[in-house]
Amino acid sequence: MSACVLCAAPDAQPVTLSPGADVALLCPVCAAALSGDIIPGPRWRCLGDAVWSEDPGTQIAAWRLLQALPGEAWAADLLETVYLDPEVLARAMAGESVVPAVEHRDVNGVRLAAGDTVTLIKDLPVKGSSMVAKRGTAVRGIRLVPDNADQIEGRVNGQQIVILCQYVKKSS
Ligand SMILES: [Zn+2]
Repeated sequence: MSACVLCAAPDAQPVTLSPGADVALLCPVCAAALSGDIIPGPRWRCLGDAVWSEDPGTQIAAWRLLQALPGEAWAADLLETVYLDPEVLARAMAGESVVPAVEHRDVNGVRLAAGDTVTLIKDLPVKGSSMVAKRGTAVRGIRLVPDNADQIEGRVNGQQIVILCQYVKKSS
């Protein structure tokens, strides 16, 4: 017998997280929630641990359920702080239909995707530090800020910073 990777309830079954090939062991309640039948409530606090899991399937399932709880402030907070590997995030978003897709475009209007590499087109002061992100710096594995089409996030000199899309150019 297996325990649900989200809420630890027994009787979990493997559920394929289409359209990808990721699999999560889910109890009937969590599986139903993932297909849209979700009742907001404290039960979903379990997602707070699950979304930090090292298992991509668990992360994707938890992330999608958090997206399906827009009225819960703690869920929104979690989505802002959690870090998913860009590839995992892209797979999580691929099955995401609750939130309308926000399009991020670089200075030339080229569509940006999670995991892309971009180049800074001007020197950018980094908020809250004396660091300047230099023009020409390549930023690999960007994240798209989900609810703001003007912003992406990326790592510069080992620090995760928010960058305005108008100051980057997608690298080919
Ligand atoms: Zn469960």
